[in-house]
Amino acid sequence: MGEFDLIKRYFDRPELRAGQVMSIGIGDDCAMLDIPQGCQLAVSSDTLLAGAHFFSDMPAHQIAQRCLAASVSDLAAMGATPAWFNLCLTLPDADPDWLADFSQGLACQAQACGISLAGGDTTKGPLSISIHVMGWTPTGAALTRNGAKIGDAILVSGSLGDSAAGLRLIQTNRQAQGYLAERYWQPTPRLSLGQWLRQKATACVDISDGLAQDLGHILKASDCGADLQLNQLPLSPALLSQVSKAQAQDYALSGGEDFELCFTLPQTHVASALAYAQDSAVPITKIGTIGSELGCRIWHSDGAEYKPQSGYQHF
Ligand code: ADP
Ligand code: MG
Repeated sequence: MGEFDLIKRYFDRPELRAGQVMSIGIGDDCAMLDIPQGCQLAVSSDTLLAGAHFFSDMPAHQIAQRCLAASVSDLAAMGATPAWFNLCLTLPDADPDWLADFSQGLACQAQACGISLAGGDTTKGPLSISIHVMGWTPTGAALTRNGAKIGDAILVSGSLGDSAAGLRLIQTNRQAQGYLAERYWQPTPRLSLGQWLRQKATACVDISDGLAQDLGHILKASDCGADLQLNQLPLSPALLSQVSKAQAQDYALSGGEDFELCFTLPQTHVASALAYAQDSAVPITKIGTIGSELGCRIWHSDGAEYKPQSGYQHF
């Protein structure tokens, strides 16, 4: 199978055009894309390498789903509406079964996120997947990391630490199934929450490196600090049934790749955010408050300061 047959068969498919329309899509030297008047384009790139970011012996549809979801999560964090993505694939060989499975998983996730494949590049070499997502927000409405204010509430979506625990299970058993493994393979980009937060949140980030590190980006960019309540961290029943509470809290703070949103809100917006959570079935939890003292302090419910058990660097 030649390069062009491969592109036509696995990537130039109607199932991969379920998101925004394109004036010109795959097949010309460039795609031509129209964004609505009064909007700005949001663009983000991610490269995932076999061995480093995923296991090459995992089913190709899971690799595709995870890679696209991780990339689209960056659009969610900016409050953007997804529109298109480009896919740069480096493949060791053109294995039709692998490609069909990859294309199937990609289409499934693209439809869930409402995003269309606009183009890309295909080369031969060690497996690597590079995805460039594009979306839009009304001009000036993007969520950024630098607007958190002293007194703001700090909130997170979903539950934390599941993906890290799922990865541990998969590392010991590639066939691992169940809620935690699924949270690793199929993260849910919080797109509607991100869009709802426009004009409300003062700062927002998606959790790709663990709450502690990603909240740290907000604190640094906003020049402020945080006080977190350890017992407020949202932990799933599945996680708590798998590991000790202390281990679960450790995963929640430093595990990474949950692709949930961490955001800051003026206290006056907290009640409406919790009401939104009820209506939309996207759990939202208040975990702390922004303060003037730089850095992040984490508190036990008895008022003692929490010291990380594993000795990793929080901030
Ligand atoms: P050029 O050589 O002019 O850069 P290519 O031959 O690489 O163009 O690609 C031909 C068309 O196929 C382009 O529209 C390109 O965007 C698209 N394409 C190539 N690889 C992929 C891919 N992996 N996924 C989606 N579209 C692709
Ligand atoms: Mg060309």
